[in-house]
Amino acid sequence: MPTKIDAFELTRAGLSLEGCVPVVALSRLSSLLASGEGEVAWQIDGWRQRDAAGLEQLRLRLRASATLGLSCGRCLGVVHWPLEIDRGFLLATNEIQAGQIDDTEEELDVLVASRQFLVLELLEDEAILALPPASSHGHCDRPELSGRSTGSGQTASSTDELAPPSPFAALRSLKRKPSSW
Ligand SMILES: [Zn+2]
Repeated sequence: MPTKIDAFELTRAGLSLEGCVPVVALSRLSSLLASGEGEVAWQIDGWRQRDAAGLEQLRLRLRASATLGLSCGRCLGVVHWPLEIDRGFLLATNEIQAGQIDDTEEELDVLVASRQFLVLELLEDEAILALPPASSHGHCDRPELSGRSTGSGQTASSTDELAPPSPFAALRSLKRKPSSW
């Protein structure tokens, strides 16, 4: 499984890479979870396109899915939470170029990439950013530790009564860009 790629080659050649990594292998992410079980299915696509001014852009799209084991805020048990990532990036070769791109593009993140681009590091960063600030079981046996009777809008609810779905099944549902196939 290629985890260290040449980001510019990926975009120049219009390639797609995909893989699956155990959650425990992402140590920064798994240190934030109640359980290190499961794996993250990921795919990264690269391509080139022209912006409105006719300048060539190098684009990356990262998609990933997993079922992560978060800690329930009420009973401290494991809450199975569906992670889904679908993010677009513009590649820059250095910080100066990244600053220039930033002025014109607002909906895409600018990524300073290199020929030794670490897919799993980007994946782990995005997964950590996607984590909810709090989580609890949808039907938790225990009362909320804080004593409040209603959950806040920031609380992610889930149920762990069902078996977690395959991360690849969820990833397939994310695949919408026809050119990646
Ligand atoms: Zn609970």
